[in-house]
Amino acid sequence: MKKTFRDNWRVVVEIMPRAREIRASQLGFTGLDYDLNGRLTGEAFEMTFVPRDLGDIGSGFFVSGHRHGRDVDAAYRARCEEMLAEFRRCDHVLSGRVECDEEHRCSHCDLVWEVLTADEAADGSTNQDAHSVEGEPVCCEAAINEFRTERSIPLLATAGGAA
Ligand SMILES: [Zn+2]
Repeated sequence: MKKTFRDNWRVVVEIMPRAREIRASQLGFTGLDYDLNGRLTGEAFEMTFVPRDLGDIGSGFFVSGHRHGRDVDAAYRARCEEMLAEFRRCDHVLSGRVECDEEHRCSHCDLVWEVLTADEAADGSTNQDAHSVEGEPVCCEAAINEFRTERSIPLLATAGGAA
């Protein structure tokens, strides 16, 4: 079965530098605000913000990430959505979105999840047998037979063997 792992949650916002709404020091260029006239100009640019770790409860205290159990993704998504809503209150934020990295792995063998294309399923050099169809996983026998069982497709000839 395909399992999806999400990681590296982040908020990406598109910022338009505008006079009086954003200062150089707010962009990390400290010590310049006095010499500047307060105006920033330029093209819109994107910045990526990474949320605080869920286990970080503030004031330097950390707890194990496991306390959020299976809802880690939902918790990170919620935290990012909250950050995004806050960013959007600022006039110089043009747009924004929540992103994460997704990786799909097989629940049986833990390899990266890959499936046959229609061409590969029809090709004797890449399919498992004449019963292979588009979408059939390629990583291991357990995943292939699980896929076939769900679709009432005859299992691999090597499976079980005792029939
Ligand atoms: Zn597998």
